Amino acid sequence: MTPAITASNVTYIYPGTRALDDASFTIPRGSVTALVGPNGAGKTTLLRCLAGLDRPLTGAIQVAGIDVLEDPRAAHARMGYLSDFFGIYEALTVRQCLSHAASGHGVPAPALRTTVERTAARLNLGDRLHQRCSELSRGLRQRVAIGQAIVHTPEVLLLDEPAAGLDPEARHTLAGLFTQLCAEGMTLVVSSHILAELDEYSTHMLVLRGGRIVEHRALAAPYAGGQRVRVVLAAEQQDWHAALKEMEGVQVMEHTPREAVLLIAGNAADQARVLRALVEAGIAVAAFAGESENLHDSYLRTVQGAPRP
Ligand code: ATP
Repeated sequence: MTPAITASNVTYIYPGTRALDDASFTIPRGSVTALVGPNGAGKTTLLRCLAGLDRPLTGAIQVAGIDVLEDPRAAHARMGYLSDFFGIYEALTVRQCLSHAASGHGVPAPALRTTVERTAARLNLGDRLHQRCSELSRGLRQRVAIGQAIVHTPEVLLLDEPAAGLDPEARHTLAGLFTQLCAEGMTLVVSSHILAELDEYSTHMLVLRGGRIVEHRALAAPYAGGQRVRVVLAAEQQDWHAALKEMEGVQVMEHTPREAVLLIAGNAADQARVLRALVEAGIAVAAFAGESENLHDSYLRTVQGAPRP
């Protein structure tokens, strides 16, 4: 199957700034990629290039199998894009905005009403359809803008800081919507600085720094055959994890004199067995808790470990 997005050697230069530097990557269909990196890393520039709004100096980009630089219009029909600073038509109602975006993306006239109402319902805007955008709060306008980006059910959805300005409940709803869109087969690339939020729905992480890709990988899925467990000791103890290495079904993923991350095969009884063995070995366990891979920690490790551009 063709990947949802392929970028090859993309370089973009603003006068005096190399915003993207030879970026190459492939994004699989049906994934949600968290596009992360410090301020000025090139995230917005990359999304604009993928959306065919900016033309890189060199390189090639394909979205849904279409060459974005050669045929941006055909690519636009297959993708949705939400800019970090978006504009909406103040004088139009929510219904008119969504309808305008849908017909602009080729949704046929007889399907407009249902399409608009389904999209509004997905964003909890069903009771706002009649209202003018000029009367909406910042967060409601954000939801209309997201609605405009998904109204034509694109194959690829590019979102630049989509949760900015949303209240906690709307953010939670949005996370649910992204998971649902992904389950329906849509491919999402989402840039955000709120990593805890991206954690809820991302399958992959693409880290940019100084216009370069410093990491791109699938995030660890929950460990199918058991549980990832973090063990924290009450005080530092050298070589304490040596005892764990002898235990059957236990893999030590990382360790320091104070804590470790283990993969424990089996079920809760096996975790209890490991905890008992640690305590019986005289190790002062202060915490023993299951965890999933945390995007925030993994991002900090990558960015702090990467050489400065
Ligand atoms: P942020 O997290 O702050 O939104 P970003 O990762 O989205 O940042 P970009 O906006 O893509 O970063 O900017 C990448 C680099 O290009 C930065 O050094 C920025 O200053 C520069 N840049 C962006 N837009 C322009 C412009 N219009 N003219 C000149 N330089 C620009």
